[in-house]
Amino acid sequence: MKLSGEGVTGQVNFTSHMDAVVTVAVRLVNALTPGQAHGRPYLPPDGGGMPAAVTAALRAGRTETREVSPGEAAEFRAVAEGIRAVFDAVAAGRTDAAARRVNEMLAGTGARPRLDRHDGEPWHLHFHGAEDSLVTGWAAGCATGLAVVLGSDLRGRLGVCTAPRCDRVYVDTSRNATRRFCSTSCQNRVKAAAFRAAHQQQTRPGQPKKSSASA
Ligand SMILES: [Zn+2]
Repeated sequence: MKLSGEGVTGQVNFTSHMDAVVTVAVRLVNALTPGQAHGRPYLPPDGGGMPAAVTAALRAGRTETREVSPGEAAEFRAVAEGIRAVFDAVAAGRTDAAARRVNEMLAGTGARPRLDRHDGEPWHLHFHGAEDSLVTGWAAGCATGLAVVLGSDLRGRLGVCTAPRCDRVYVDTSRNATRRFCSTSCQNRVKAAAFRAAHQQQTRPGQPKKSSASA
């Protein structure tokens, strides 16, 4: 996904960091907020499962992230609730509310840009929180990533799955911005339902065939 960065340098460090934090934002929401997923009720893992779920979400953005503690995982759950509110607002067309939420997250985390250099990489831009804890750092990064998207013409690419009984979120990275579902699983469910509906329409004229399921 190209969020910006063309002409900044020949490299895509800024862009790839943006991609990473937006990816992590999606993964945190989908792992840690209750609701519905792919046609079923969804409850986030609790107790022992939660730190592993958070660690997996963070590693989707940065592979060398250390494992999180149970206490940190609980804090990430609150961060995920805040991020979900932004996706929900965008999906409902309430962009003003989404922007206010993101500004609150930026202020609450004390998000600030900083050039870092580590692991043999060239200088690149990171976003830190006011305090350098793992949770605040990621929350600041996610808030900044959402701010960059919301502040650009890509704001409509934050999405909530439109399939029935699913409210997982996604970022649309398709070329034509045509994505509507969180996953191919939901896309296939909707396709199959549309096919069944069309088939029923065809067989409906004439006698109802209620008991023909096994025919
Ligand atoms: Zn879905």
